[in-house]
Amino acid sequence: MNVNSLSQRLYKVATYLPEGSHFADIGSDHAYLPCYVCLRDETARAVAGEVNQGPYESARNEVTLHSLQDRIDVRLGNGLEVLEKDEVNQVVIAGMGGPLIRDILEAGKKKLGTVQRIIAQPNIDSRSIRRWFLNNGYSLVDESILEESGHIYEILVAEQGDAGKPYDKQQIDKELWLGPYLLKQGGVTFRKKCQEEMDKKKYVLEQLKKASSVDPKKIEGLNNEIMWLKEVLDYDRN
Ligand code: SAM
Repeated sequence: MNVNSLSQRLYKVATYLPEGSHFADIGSDHAYLPCYVCLRDETARAVAGEVNQGPYESARNEVTLHSLQDRIDVRLGNGLEVLEKDEVNQVVIAGMGGPLIRDILEAGKKKLGTVQRIIAQPNIDSRSIRRWFLNNGYSLVDESILEESGHIYEILVAEQGDAGKPYDKQQIDKELWLGPYLLKQGGVTFRKKCQEEMDKKKYVLEQLKKASSVDPKKIEGLNNEIMWLKEVLDYDRN
C-alpha cells in the first residue's frame, strides 16, 4: 500500500471527508490517509498524530516525500493530546480496536469542541464506539462494511447532534451491536459478518452449557444475540 494505491478500507474512510477538510488522523502510521487526501484536494489540511516513534518517523518521511509539510503537521503524542482545542473539523481514528478508539475519544473529549464529524474504523467491537457516540452527543450518520484481504471492516461516521436519532428504542441493544444503518443496508458482507458471529456465539453457548456452573444471564444474553443474528440471516435470504 502507498498513497497512490490506498487500501479499500482507507479509501472508503477518505470518502467521508468533505472537500477542504481540516482533519486529524490519529494513529497515522505512514500518514497514507492524510497524504492521499491532501494530494487530491489542495484545500485540505491535516494533523497526523502518532504515539510511537517508529510510525511517527514513517509518517514524517511520507509527508516530506510528497512535499506536504505545509499542509500536514505530523505530531508525536497520545491520542487527541496532539491537538489544540478547536483546531480541526473532522477526526479520523482507523485501524485500531473499538475499545482503544473509544478510550482515545473519551480521554480527549475536551478537544472535540469544533469537530463536526468523527470517522472511526474499528477492527473489532464497533459496539463500544456506538455506545460512546450515544452517550456523548454524537449522532451516527452513516456506516459502511467492507471485506479486504480476508478481514471484514466497519466504518462508523458520526456528527454532533441528536445521538438517539438513528436508534429504535425497542431494538437499541441489537442496533448498538450490529449497527442501525448496516441492519437496514444488509448485503453480502454484512451477512457474512453475521454468519461468522453466529458461528462464534453458538460455539460459546455450547461451551457454556457444558460448564459445571451455568450463568443464566450469560445464556440469556447469548440466546438474544443468536436470535438477532437469525433475524438478519433469515431476512436476507428472502
Ligand atoms: N490509521 C492507520 C490505518 O488505519 O491504516 C494505521 C493503523 S495502525 C494498525 C495503528 C496505529 O495507531 C499505530 O501506528 C499505533 O502506533 C497508533 N496508535 C495506537 N494508539 C495510539 C494512541 N493512543 N495515539 C496515537 N496513536 C496511536
